Amino acid sequence: MTVLVFGSLNLDLVAYADNLPTLGQTVTGEKLLRFPGGKGLNQAIAASRSGSKVLMVGCLGQDSEGDFLNQVLLDEKIDSRFISRQIVQTGIAVIEVSKDGENRILIIPGANALVKFKQEHLEIATKPKVVLSQLETPITEVEKFIINAHKAGVITILNPAPIQKLSKELISACDYLIVNETEASFLIGKQVEKLIKDEALVVAKQLCSMGAKQVIITLGEQGSLYLDSQNNIYTPAFKISAIDTTAAGDAFCGAFATAIANGSPIEYALKFATAGGAIAATRAGAVPSLPTNSEILSMLASVQ
Ligand code: ADP
Repeated sequence: MTVLVFGSLNLDLVAYADNLPTLGQTVTGEKLLRFPGGKGLNQAIAASRSGSKVLMVGCLGQDSEGDFLNQVLLDEKIDSRFISRQIVQTGIAVIEVSKDGENRILIIPGANALVKFKQEHLEIATKPKVVLSQLETPITEVEKFIINAHKAGVITILNPAPIQKLSKELISACDYLIVNETEASFLIGKQVEKLIKDEALVVAKQLCSMGAKQVIITLGEQGSLYLDSQNNIYTPAFKISAIDTTAAGDAFCGAFATAIANGSPIEYALKFATAGGAIAATRAGAVPSLPTNSEILSMLASVQ
């Protein structure tokens, strides 16, 4: 089933050093690695690997970084007909990681700042079942995309990361709003580091009163909480030994979109996404950690 992702594509340049330099200091690093990244691309890959036919709307520069990411789209079997190439720099994230795992990240949006919604994105031969977006591309365009998709009767999923203020119109056009603890607390105007299950329910109710139809708050190693007008469903996380939780949320969103596009009942979609998030947490990195459909199914089978 088709999932249309509207979002960012970045080249992640990751520099490893024992210690990170202080302001004005020069230190010798160990190595520099490059990875595909950006929440849009991560979630598109997560959806594709977990079993969806994926199309992506995004923007790359006409540079070698753009060529690299274009090849990633091909390798991951993501339809790139709506990826435009502009005469600007491709989005880049410069990430410094110390041996203690501390990091510092500088993002240059580059081409991601030029992504624009066009009605033709929703008018492909086989209409997408589900659209999925984040907030690493201009929010005004994300808003047009989600609102128009909603009007066209497509199931809409928004993962508003990095979080910003959302208009009531945007929230109301989302069939599913997927937020982590930080994003959820920002939206209700409170600063909370960690939510326990019962607090999450209170926050989810507040998000519903702001117009959200179905809210999912992901709670890291605690799992997730789903709330709609009638039900709440708590899905516990899988017990795994986490190595690196980078992109666990992206794996969750991509896998959730796949399950919803397949018409799965919400309980199953949540379990499928939870398994996706857990597997990503057991592996290092973002894109290399995103699981395939058979890996997710094996994890689900292992607990039955
Ligand atoms: P984000 O990466 O957006 O902050 P979370 O940390 O909440 O999102 O993770 C998303 C989902 O991934 C969680 O709901 C959970 O299902 C799974 N997950 C994350 N961390 C772990 C963990 N340590 N153990 C098991 N599952 C995890």
